[in-house]
Amino acid sequence: MKDFLSERARGIAPYTAGEQPADRRYIKLNTNENPYPPSPEAVAALRGFGAETLNRYPQPCSDRLRQVIAQAEGVAPENVFCSNGSDETLFLSFAAFFDRNAPVCYADITYSFYAVYAAFFGIESAVVPLNKDYKIDLAAMANTPCKGYYIANPNAPTGVGIPRAEMEEFIKSVPDRLVIADEAYMDFYGESLSGAVLKYENLLVVKTFSKSYSLAGIRCGYALGSRALIEGLTRVKDCMNSYPVDSVCAAVCAAAVADRAYRDKTARLVCDERERLREELLRLGFTVPQSGANFLFAGKGKIAGGALYARLKEKGVLVRHWDTPALSEFCRITVGTREENDILLKSIKTILG
Ligand SMILES: *Cc1c(COP(=O)(O)O)cnc(C)c1O
Repeated sequence: MKDFLSERARGIAPYTAGEQPADRRYIKLNTNENPYPPSPEAVAALRGFGAETLNRYPQPCSDRLRQVIAQAEGVAPENVFCSNGSDETLFLSFAAFFDRNAPVCYADITYSFYAVYAAFFGIESAVVPLNKDYKIDLAAMANTPCKGYYIANPNAPTGVGIPRAEMEEFIKSVPDRLVIADEAYMDFYGESLSGAVLKYENLLVVKTFSKSYSLAGIRCGYALGSRALIEGLTRVKDCMNSYPVDSVCAAVCAAAVADRAYRDKTARLVCDERERLREELLRLGFTVPQSGANFLFAGKGKIAGGALYARLKEKGVLVRHWDTPALSEFCRITVGTREENDILLKSIKTILG
């Protein structure tokens, strides 16, 4: 076979998404989706969408959605950038703000897409270990030479969050470096920096509709930042795809934002279940860092992480496990509904004997 791959494509190790198997029905606690359906307002927006208008392109910068988001976040539309999933915003941010000769800094245990994007663009990475409490070590990061940072807050896959005040101190201490706060799970933690983008020109906050808004299937995310940062993202978007957010997606997400009371209500249910599940896992002998997200990082129990993952899968419960040395002792377990979590706990108890 001829190999037509570019050197770039051949050289890269892509991100591996959580498995979506179809061999049977699983209790799916492996990709941090929300167990609840989207807001009824979002569902109604989809049902009522005028499909006959789909001959037209959507707004190139999703102006109406930006307006709705800006109002909800307390910023101006010029401070909002929308994309096809927040992964796309993250990808574009590497292109917009980093060069080959200036390293990007992130934690050793964090969202693994940062390393993939850095490698894709040939940007050097400065990787800083978590501290003993599985927390991102901001002090060590501040002392690491770099052009800027990616900080998942709360972090994945640990779930550990950083309070807003600590983040603000950090941002102020590195005024010449860009801080990208990936707040994919922030609605389960409540320490968002979104309003602070008006105060710090070195802060970009990235959010998604995939988790707290229960809209992983529609692919939408956004960034909040100074007008200059948003213009930077728009420049690279317009080198890649002029219309990343389709009109159906924009209408559904705008309705979801307007009904963010529903998002907050379901997030509270998830957080209550998270605390109950964590107590039970601690009682079963697992190490489980306090989580600010919709998942728990559980390990070092009476069973190895890989074995727990495999035995749970046999029983029809999917969790996430990685084989890398730093993570192999743990599983990442998405918080499900009360019923799902009960089945998970019962299965773990059976496995432990
Ligand atoms: C889920 C997740 C995202 C969001 O991905 P989407 O492309 O918006 O679905 C971003 N960052 C982290 C840390 C995540 O876990």
